[in-house]
Amino acid sequence: MGHNAPYRLICRKERRASRDAAFPHLVRIGPASVGGPTPVVIAGPCAVESREQTLAVARAVKAAGAVLLRGGAFKPRTSPHDFQGLGVPGLEILAEARAETGLGVVTEVMDPRLVEQVGRYADCLQIGARNMQNFALLREVGRFGKPVLLKRHWGATLDEWLGAAEYVAAEGNLQIVLCERGIRTFTQGGYNRFTLDLNVVPAVRRATFLPVIVDPSHATGDTEMVPSAARAGIAAGAHGLIIEVIGPEADPDKALCDGYQAITPAVLAEIVRDIRPREEQERSSRPFPRRA
Ligand code: PEP
Ligand code: MN
Repeated sequence: MGHNAPYRLICRKERRASRDAAFPHLVRIGPASVGGPTPVVIAGPCAVESREQTLAVARAVKAAGAVLLRGGAFKPRTSPHDFQGLGVPGLEILAEARAETGLGVVTEVMDPRLVEQVGRYADCLQIGARNMQNFALLREVGRFGKPVLLKRHWGATLDEWLGAAEYVAAEGNLQIVLCERGIRTFTQGGYNRFTLDLNVVPAVRRATFLPVIVDPSHATGDTEMVPSAARAGIAAGAHGLIIEVIGPEADPDKALCDGYQAITPAVLAEIVRDIRPREEQERSSRPFPRRA
């Protein structure tokens, strides 16, 4: 970090120098702690489409090992003619899914005027890539105080992204999780939707004490590429994943949003198994507990 870095409240070096006892920095979202040794898995549909769809996906991702449920009730769509999300009824459905499964809820807020309303239902407020530098929104979620998932814009440098996080921190809220979700490069339209910037994961960890997760779904835009991108993200040092999943019996072609990048709960379960910390994997594969 140069001395002109646009952030200091979230700076790793300064926090370490202050010998803060609360280190490593954990972000607590519902039943999850993000930033510790166990990767946190956030999974669910791109959009809340109906009660039946969302409850089915929630039960399935819970069984697969996710601890937090994702799902947009307010969707940032490229065209105003596309499905925009169910709005407040969608939030009610997410709350019902939480009550039934115990999963914490992560959902997007796009409008500073709706932070209070979305924040009544959410355990974590997601700021989407398109709103990464919506400074009024960043300040509002900072003041609100609930955990924030800040996605990186596909054209943002590391400093721009961390500068955006600093806006939330400047309002007194350090409960921030960063999310790399793919950047725009020359490969678009070839074989993927965006390019997962794996290099940024260790770069984030060097620059800030805030945890960072990876979104392999938007980063690839391709169901078949999601598992390898997910594993690569964890190998690069990410503290967790946010993944789009469809119901066990759902047809991806009928999804109202991003069906082409959704995985099934069975594939999610394989990913969860693969990314467990090594000592946990060894413990569960040992036939007999080791004697002291
Ligand atoms: C999402 O996660 O629902 C989403 C819209 O992603 P992004 O903001 O990264 O495009
Ligand atoms: Mn999506």
